Amino acid sequence: MKSNYQNLIEELARLEIITDPGQVAKLSLDYYHFSPILEAQLQDKRADLVIRPHNSQEVIDIAKTCVKYQIPLTVRGAGTGNYGQCVPLQGGVILDTTKLTKIISIEPGTARVEAGVKMAFFDKQARAIGWELRMAPSTYRTATIGGFIGGGSVGMGSINYGQLKDRGNLQAVQLVTLEAEPKIIELRGDEVEKVNHAYGTNGIITELEIALAPCYPWAEFIVTFADFLTAAKFGQALSDSDGIVKKMVSVHSWPIPAYFTALKDYLTTGKAAVLLIVSDSDRVALESLIKEYNGELTYYKTPEETQKGNSILEFTWNHTTLHARSCNPKITYLQAFYFNLATVEKLHNYFGEEIMMHLEFLKFQGKVIPAGLPLLEFTTETRLNEIIAIYEQQGAAIANPHTYIMEDGGSRQINPLQLEFKQLVDPYGLNNPGKMRAWVEARG
Ligand code: FAD
Repeated sequence: MKSNYQNLIEELARLEIITDPGQVAKLSLDYYHFSPILEAQLQDKRADLVIRPHNSQEVIDIAKTCVKYQIPLTVRGAGTGNYGQCVPLQGGVILDTTKLTKIISIEPGTARVEAGVKMAFFDKQARAIGWELRMAPSTYRTATIGGFIGGGSVGMGSINYGQLKDRGNLQAVQLVTLEAEPKIIELRGDEVEKVNHAYGTNGIITELEIALAPCYPWAEFIVTFADFLTAAKFGQALSDSDGIVKKMVSVHSWPIPAYFTALKDYLTTGKAAVLLIVSDSDRVALESLIKEYNGELTYYKTPEETQKGNSILEFTWNHTTLHARSCNPKITYLQAFYFNLATVEKLHNYFGEEIMMHLEFLKFQGKVIPAGLPLLEFTTETRLNEIIAIYEQQGAAIANPHTYIMEDGGSRQINPLQLEFKQLVDPYGLNNPGKMRAWVEARG
């Protein structure tokens, strides 16, 4: 007798199906290995096969066949998530969206795209008419827009537009349900919260409408400072300077700059470094602020030059962890919201060399606050949890990146809206099973 998988492969034979074990293994993973805890939990998790739909009809066919044979289905964009969001815990099918690449429309302030469109590719097209993504992760060159909505939260641009979950940033979503007869559903306005940052547990997003920002002639700068706290104060002052248009302010305490080997000509041993993306039209004002804080401008890339080579974005946010780990694989990270510089200072002084701080400034409830992904050498899970507790006692908030359970990471709360929506669109619990705690608890 044929297995369910053989039946599925036969029925979907006209689609792009990958069964080669090496390829399937590669496409079953993401960057969970930044966490030694997740590394131990997820390293042997594999899908049985991968299918790459080329249009919404093929997505519907895959959903229908998975439901027919009760096979788990996990959606994958570029697989750059950090918490095993797209790692299939129970095998099954990986639906890879990287062939869903149509840009449907770009208009002033808004765009509609298929879920697999790469963020940097999209920006190139949008900039041609003076617009760009409001925010993007440091994995911007490879990440998909659908994957950012499913698993991401902040990035360059968040200094102006806050987090992905802030009302207005995601305008509408079209998705395919996992029912015997899959439906196409369109969510708009506040309804998008049902699937925003839901780790692909409640429906397969096929199209999205996203808000855009006006595009400026972005230039890149590196400024060094004698000490981290002065650099942090400069970062806050620049973030609060309404007359200077910026897209990213990222402050790094020594020794983090030592991990940026490709930038070594612009960094000085022992000094803090601030990496900036600022409108070139505001360069003179920026230089005055740098002078006020006794900083030294060591690197400047014009808007034309930023079109070539790697962006300094790729040293910030969680790319900082990537560079640090390439020098010392024992390094791991946390995700922190400090809310103010007093908390940054307290924690910096308290932990000394144990924690290497970098700050990324972002808009939170109308104010720009310091957040960031502090680095540390992993010793034990107990010590990691102690550090989280101390951070929280001192007034910071931690989004724990060492769990693949959705609710245990960021919000630490069950989202009844997302659970209710899952009951509707994924009644058999086939969609990325094991990631939504609310569902697991509701089903016993
Ligand atoms: P994937 O990893 O493929 O998927 C992410 C989640 O979304 C999974 O749960 C998946 O099932 C779900 N999903 C994907 N597509 C769909 C769909 N069509 N329908 C339903 N669900 C879907 N994140 C940030 O927020 N900011 C950062 O600055 C940042 N920097 C990073 C730096 C590094 C070095 C690394 C490794 C990661 C970083 N991340 C960051 C995390 C990650 O890169 C981003 O969240 C990225 O946007 C994920 O996109 P992706 O296409 O790779 O998604």
